[in-house]
Amino acid sequence: MNPDTVTEAFTETCATFTGLTAHQADGLACVVCGADYLVVRVAHRPVGRSVTGGQVFACAPACPPVTPGGADIGGATAGGDAL
Ligand SMILES: [Zn+2]
Repeated sequence: MNPDTVTEAFTETCATFTGLTAHQADGLACVVCGADYLVVRVAHRPVGRSVTGGQVFACAPACPPVTPGGADIGGATAGGDAL
């Protein structure tokens, strides 16, 4: 076990995010930077839930330095399906 790797633990977080966009609430976009995971290929991890109970995600380990604008970041994905 790597103490620096925090992934599944976040799944059980009690954090509830409000004021999200539809994509953010559906776990399809980053709740931090708003990157659309359907467009921006960046690794992400669950960080909490929306007010509707859906799991929400944030880029991992950090949000991409560029603002989402349809550009393909080309980063590795977390391998998690948004479905
Ligand atoms: Zn992000």
